[in-house]
Amino acid sequence: MDRRQYYIDGAWVAPADGRDFDVVNPATERPAATISLAGAGDVDRAVQVARRAFPDYMATTVEERLAWLQRLLDIYLARADEMTAAMTTEMGAPLTFCREVQTPCGDGHVLAFKEALRAFEFEGPSPRGGSRIVHEPIGVCALITPWNWPINQVVVKVIPALAAGCTCVLKPSEHAPLSAMLFAEMLDEAGFPPGAFNLINGDGALAGAELSRHPDVDMVSFTGSTRAGVAVSRAAADTIKRVTLELGGKSPNLLFADADLEGAVNWSVAACYSNAGQTCDAPTRLLVERPVYEDAKAIARQAALATKVGDPAKEGDHIGPVVNARQFENIQRLIQIGIDEGATLLAGGVGRPDGLEVGYYVKPTLFADVGNEMTVNREEIFGPALCMLPFDTEEEAFRLANDTPYGLGACIQTGDPARAERVARRLRAGGISINGGAPDYDAPFGGMKQSGNGRENGVHGLADYLDLKTITG
Ligand code: NAD
Repeated sequence: MDRRQYYIDGAWVAPADGRDFDVVNPATERPAATISLAGAGDVDRAVQVARRAFPDYMATTVEERLAWLQRLLDIYLARADEMTAAMTTEMGAPLTFCREVQTPCGDGHVLAFKEALRAFEFEGPSPRGGSRIVHEPIGVCALITPWNWPINQVVVKVIPALAAGCTCVLKPSEHAPLSAMLFAEMLDEAGFPPGAFNLINGDGALAGAELSRHPDVDMVSFTGSTRAGVAVSRAAADTIKRVTLELGGKSPNLLFADADLEGAVNWSVAACYSNAGQTCDAPTRLLVERPVYEDAKAIARQAALATKVGDPAKEGDHIGPVVNARQFENIQRLIQIGIDEGATLLAGGVGRPDGLEVGYYVKPTLFADVGNEMTVNREEIFGPALCMLPFDTEEEAFRLANDTPYGLGACIQTGDPARAERVARRLRAGGISINGGAPDYDAPFGGMKQSGNGRENGVHGLADYLDLKTITG
């Protein structure tokens, strides 16, 4: 597929200074499409279009924007199978998982943002009544997204930006741009005014950095690695942009002896391996209360060995490959480090699963008796690899759980509601799941500490794209 064009000013346009880049299907290791990586000239072209479109677009009414969102929702639902196929091709998430989990994130979030926009009070009095406080769109937004939940990440930025009255330039991950380009077609069909939404493809070093520093960009919303988040913040500092960051994680999962052990361990393994372990808030550190630790290890081992890995183009509940050769190599490196540092390998290990010689497939890997300081317990592996550690007291569990620079998610498994509540309040993470609880699309999502600083989704995600104006007299 030739997908070299960008979507700028309401039309698909040829790149001016692009370089060719192959989007590789991770199941076949073969190119699935060729895109163009934008240079500074193309980035500037897209930003200038968004800048020019901003005054008219910010003046559109909430009713108009709600109508475009409703049309988009209808189109998205009608073309959902295409979205599923695009993500399976670009990042290897299996068809069934994409159809049932990844693709529905798109319509789920559009609907939740529609509700948030309809209910939002854009104007109101200051507490003592002396001024009026008006919420206005912040301006031109640069939106930079990763490849692991591709359409989810795109939708939770593009839609609140457009709902708020901002214009934007999206730069999706160069490894998974096909779903974003399909989404651009849908936005076009929905009738958003030319220039409100623009898409360029590009890598981080050039296009991402250029967007982050561009003087005509008012806000950068970035999701990706902490390393790149730091670079974005630095690049944006000279022009005092608003920067919201959704970064990495090493989320703890606290399993107490009073939990339903079998159910909790099976859930924990599945939650870590889901999406081939490529989820920012995946519970990758399973901390188990000592009296049930040995039993938990045995159950987890069975669950790891029973996890199927296979072709993402086939239906089923298996996991697929990881996204690309670089991620595959990094995961292999970290698994080897885990072995070298003395963690007990209960399942998986280095190398591809039997019978899968082509494709970036990783063995579902389980480490037990992991030391708190071991590399596999501290660094994001971003593959299907779970670490198990024992703890003796609730205090020790807090200490281990919070002993990380990250603070994205945390999970609690317990049969005691009072304990669940007490533990939830003391964990330093932006999202807490109790006994497998999953938040709805309207609940804020984001991290504490080095996992980020913004909150996406629903009304909180919408508010990120608004500025405040005080009118007095
Ligand atoms: P990445 O940081 O390499 O890339 C993410 C995006 O940033 C891509 O579009 C890339 O082109 C761009 N980029 C890279 N370097 C840049 C730079 N210097 N300046 C500007 N843009 C740059 O991350 P990835 O490998 O695509 O994604 C995996 C990471 O994303 C993991 O660390 C994961 O935890 C994180 N993530 C976080 C969340 C969250 O909501 N907190 C969600 C998904 C993924």
